[in-house]
Amino acid sequence: MSINHKDRIKIGIPSKGRLSDPVIQLLKRSGLKFRRSHRALYAHCKKNPITLVFVRADDIPLLVSEGAIDMGITGSDLVQENNAHVDQLLDVGFGDCRLCVAAPKNKIKNLKQLDGKKIVTSFPTITKKFFKKQGIKVTTFEVSGSVEVMIALGLADAIVDLVESGDTLRDNDLVVVKDIGNYETVLISNPQISKSKTALWLKKRIEGVVIADQYCLLEYNIQQKNLKKAESITPGFESPTVSPLEDSNWFAIKVMVNMTEIHEVMDKLEKIGATAIMQMTINNCRL
Ligand code: AMP
Repeated sequence: MSINHKDRIKIGIPSKGRLSDPVIQLLKRSGLKFRRSHRALYAHCKKNPITLVFVRADDIPLLVSEGAIDMGITGSDLVQENNAHVDQLLDVGFGDCRLCVAAPKNKIKNLKQLDGKKIVTSFPTITKKFFKKQGIKVTTFEVSGSVEVMIALGLADAIVDLVESGDTLRDNDLVVVKDIGNYETVLISNPQISKSKTALWLKKRIEGVVIADQYCLLEYNIQQKNLKKAESITPGFESPTVSPLEDSNWFAIKVMVNMTEIHEVMDKLEKIGATAIMQMTINNCRL
């Protein structure tokens, strides 16, 4: 697709932190060609009217909602924390985490016990809103990092922080008292840009890689009498491709299967008599 140069857009990319490398890899796999010279703020894409802007992940929602940049890739937790008026175009498939209230093991068993207590967090907006909704009065302190050590230091009775595996909480003798919300890394856009040709094109490019990572291609052979059962096990993204084999009793099937289900699906197909069941990787796709 050729893109008009007046459609050039700026997209915010995390310059450091846990999202930086995966986002850069995602854009490269989506076919964007760019090179960032050491610590440069900008990188211009060679063949496409896109300029990458390297900024902190937590600044991206504000920059996009104010129109300083057009699009960005960052955590949906940061979008909510900043009350950013942006469109969330796509979940890019990584950075899944949950925001939790956590407290010292055996000390705080439920939220009500936090009434009148002190909470430390990097998410003051979400935290205040959450406790207000629960009707629990707390004092909130904002810190920018190492939230989990603040209880040991005596600043707070509990924390509100992002949890991925729970290892950091365990290391600090903390347990989850309550989940506040689930978040992921998202492609965001200023609402004025979301429907533009370039934004829609970029979303399609990234989506192709994201879906390819979530699905694989399964090929197998099945007898005609078991075809209906096979199709119900592997309905595919839209519908499976069914091709007749030389032996008219048999069909070859090609179908997309979600990676999270692949092993169970293969077991089920084998049980109903499918043969030559093969899982193939999808590198990119357009559906
Ligand atoms: P960072 O720039 O490294 O502070 O990470 C920023 C974003 O990474 C967060 O706002 C979340 O969207 C995402 N994230 C995913 N898992 C975690 C985690 N376990 N801890 C912190 N951030 C996480």
